Amino acid sequence: MNTRVGQVKEVTSLSNPLVKDIRALALKKFRDREGAFIAEGLKLVIDALDQGWSIRTLVFAKAGLGNPAVEKAAARTVAAGGTVLEVTEKVLGAITRRDNPQMVIGVFAQKFVPLASVRPSGEDVWVALDRVRDPGNLGTIIRTIDAAGAKGVILVGDCTDPFSLETVRATMGSIFSVPVARASVEAFLGWRKDFPGLVAGTHLKGAVDYRSVDFSGRPVLLLMGNEQQGLPDDLAAVCGRLLRIPQAGRADSLNLAVATGVMLFEIRRNALRIDPEQAK
Ligand code: SAM
Repeated sequence: MNTRVGQVKEVTSLSNPLVKDIRALALKKFRDREGAFIAEGLKLVIDALDQGWSIRTLVFAKAGLGNPAVEKAAARTVAAGGTVLEVTEKVLGAITRRDNPQMVIGVFAQKFVPLASVRPSGEDVWVALDRVRDPGNLGTIIRTIDAAGAKGVILVGDCTDPFSLETVRATMGSIFSVPVARASVEAFLGWRKDFPGLVAGTHLKGAVDYRSVDFSGRPVLLLMGNEQQGLPDDLAAVCGRLLRIPQAGRADSLNLAVATGVMLFEIRRNALRIDPEQAK
C-alpha cells in the first residue's frame, strides 16, 4: 500500500484509544462533542469523499489489503490529513455492532446547513419534520428526499440525530447528498414567514385531498408531523394547506416515512406535469 510508511496504524485491540474513541461515536453525547459520525461501506466512503465530505479516519479490515479501491480511499484519507487504521474483523464488528461488518468504515465531520441559508426558489421542494423520533424513519425520509429530487430537510424541535449509526444506515448514502438544517420551533416559525411558496402540512384531519392541489410553479415546503402526536396546532396554523391522504381499511394513519414518500412523489408528478395516462 502506497500510504503504508508510518501512515497506516495496525490495531488489533479493542482497548486501543483510537478504537475506543470511534466506538464512543455510537453515543450522541460523543458525536456532538466530536462533531463526527460513522459511515459504513467502501462505496459510501468513496461517494462521501467525492462529494467533499471531510474524512477524519478510515478503518478497514485486513481483508481489504491489496484492494485497489481501499488503497485509493486510504491514500485520499492521508492526503486529507486523516488517519488510516487497519484492524481485525473483531474490531470492525465492535465499532459497527454487527456480526458481519462492512470491510471499510469512515469517520466524517458532521455538516448541518444553517436555516438562514435555505432560500428555496423555482420549484424547489423542502421537507420539514416536526420532532421526528425514529432513526429508521428519518433515514428513510432522507433517502426518499434524494430519490424524489427534493432539496433537503429541516429538523424542527427535538428530533432524532441524523448522524446516528442507525439513521445513516437507513439513508443508504443519501446523508451525503441531502442537506440537513435544524431549528427550534421559534426559529422555524420566523423563517417560515419569508417562505415564498406553498407550505403544505399533512394532517389526519386535513381538509384537502393531497391529489387535488397544484404544487407546480412555486417552491413547496412539505411539513410532516411527529409519529405519535401528529402536527401540533402552532405548526398546523402556519400551513397554507392541510392535506390528507385518504386511506382504506382500519389503519388509523400511515407510517411517517411512507406518508412522506407518497407526498413527495405526488408533488414530483404534479410539478413535472406527468399525466398518468401518458406515463404508461
Ligand atoms: N397519531 C398521529 C396523529 O394523530 O396525527 C399519527 C401520526 S402519523 C404516524 C405521522 C405523520 O404522518 C402525521 O403527522 C402526518 O404528517 C403523516 N400522515 C400519516 N398518515 C397520514 C394521512 N393519511 N394523511 C395525511 N398525513 C398523514
